[in-house]
Amino acid sequence: MLVFGHKNPDTDTVCSAIVMAHLQNKLGNPAQAVRLGDLNKETQYVLNHFNVEAPQLLEGSLEGKDVILVDHNEFGQSADGIGEATVKMVVDHHRIANFQTAEPLYFRAEPVGCTATILYKMFKENGVEVESKMAGLMLSAIVSDTLLFKSPTCTAEDETACRELAAMAGIDLNGYGMDMLKAGTDLSDYSAGQLLGIDAKVFPMGAATVEIAQINTVSIADMLTRKNELEAQMQAIISEKGLDLFVAVITDILNSNSQIIALGNRTDIVEKGFQVTLVENTALLEGVVSRKKQIVPVMDKSA
Ligand code: MN
Ligand code: MN
Repeated sequence: MLVFGHKNPDTDTVCSAIVMAHLQNKLGNPAQAVRLGDLNKETQYVLNHFNVEAPQLLEGSLEGKDVILVDHNEFGQSADGIGEATVKMVVDHHRIANFQTAEPLYFRAEPVGCTATILYKMFKENGVEVESKMAGLMLSAIVSDTLLFKSPTCTAEDETACRELAAMAGIDLNGYGMDMLKAGTDLSDYSAGQLLGIDAKVFPMGAATVEIAQINTVSIADMLTRKNELEAQMQAIISEKGLDLFVAVITDILNSNSQIIALGNRTDIVEKGFQVTLVENTALLEGVVSRKKQIVPVMDKSA
């Protein structure tokens, strides 16, 4: 059984895959976590901190393989060839879309801020002890997805779970959490292509195909010094993938705002949805930090 999260893996996707594989092994179901891409710096920081090995990159065909999906369900965000695998289980906290299986499965989706919050409940429900390292991975996933409880996606359940896990792992949440989030914003050595690939997802919206890439930063102004470079790369991706719209979301994790850069022939989706006028392809969205809760639904409605 292979366990994996989405493409362009983030901390929740990687940690939840490792933790889910661990839980399945404890329950007597041999499972192995794999990843669908390179680790970002935040996730590298987390795995180093808790001395956990990174999952291997998924290689080879999925034909005839049993898989568990965590932190995603849309096939467009999953492994290439996911249609040839047998999806046995999904544990997720995103919208359900573009998902179909031939066979019955265990499907658990809850509108919480992080997959790891659901996994923590599964440990409790199954009476499986949470080892310190697993607690560290789960709390890191929650810190990442909720931006240390500041994202509107964060629920009381996420915060409670995170604080319980921090006590188990002996972690000072504020200190560790900020260090971890900042580790993910150290991007000066990244090319424009790498920046856009850190956390990009493709969404069908109405008749349009839209890619939304999110980049966390502690300074929007610093990131905007690379605007021309980013736009050239976005244009190249639009042509290559035949996208109708590419939105780069530069999120200030300290002040909880996002600057967007939008290119393509359907920038009307952005202007209509957020009631903004793009000036030189960009606009500031105050108070917006969550793609899942504050960006995708708004754009979907105006697509
Ligand atoms: Mn994720
Ligand atoms: Mn997540």
